[in-house]
Amino acid sequence: MTKIFKPLCTNKKGRNMTEIAVTNRNQLLPCCHLDSPGYFKDPFIKKLAESSDISKHKSLDDIIYNYYWKTLNRIITKAMDTQDTTDVPPPCVNVCTKEGRRADWIFGKGGQ
Ligand code: SF4
Repeated sequence: MTKIFKPLCTNKKGRNMTEIAVTNRNQLLPCCHLDSPGYFKDPFIKKLAESSDISKHKSLDDIIYNYYWKTLNRIITKAMDTQDTTDVPPPCVNVCTKEGRRADWIFGKGGQ
């Protein structure tokens, strides 16, 4: 079965399948799926979360335009286009890579 990387947090048509989340540690995350102890062992996701403490920023824009958020967005957008997930943090690959048939079920025939 073909695996397809389709990030739930972004797509080309602006129809995101998930929303930004806030953890019980007051950290903003691009999605609730990453809020898992296992996923926080990933160095990039750990730094992303540590850079996203809401109490340490004046606005949410300060967080979502920081280095880690912009880097993640660039990486997953490129991976979505190329289907090369080499640079994508493993938690994102795990959450957002689905078998082709399941992706069709979630996003509709033809994908996002
Ligand atoms: S796991 Fe990663 S790619 Fe998937 S929705 Fe969350 S932030 Fe986006």
